[in-house]
Amino acid sequence: MADCIFCKIVAGEIPAKVVFEDEAVLAFEDLNPQAPEHVLVIPKKHIATLNDLSAEDAPVIGAMSRAAARIAHDRGFAEIGYRTVMNCNEHGGQTVYHIHMHVLAGRALSWPPG
Ligand code: 5GP
Ligand code: ZN
Repeated sequence: MADCIFCKIVAGEIPAKVVFEDEAVLAFEDLNPQAPEHVLVIPKKHIATLNDLSAEDAPVIGAMSRAAARIAHDRGFAEIGYRTVMNCNEHGGQTVYHIHMHVLAGRALSWPPG
């Protein structure tokens, strides 16, 4: 997608602090962190929202979750804990329309979310 910020990060056209990459996903630090640790895990393929996830593309969600767990292990917060979040559309708080999994850690996170 030509005008998608996250596709531009995948293409290397916009810089990002990459923390993990494999054939299916890319993970990088959030520009505006909401916790001491805030990483975004995205599929390399453009998928606008969770509502647009096809059966064919569904395995990428597993790849994103596995990447999140690996990042948590590598960055040392797997045991103390962390939160993964995927926002969908307006009421979900989605602002970038290329699906992404937030990985938040480094403080005790409150529940329910605001
Ligand atoms: P959403 O609100 O869609 O769930 O989350 C989008 C996230 O992307 C936000 O946390 C925001 O800070 C982050 N973000 C937006 N633009 C950029 C960017 O150009 N680089 C990085 N690293 N993060 C971005
Ligand atoms: Zn995209």
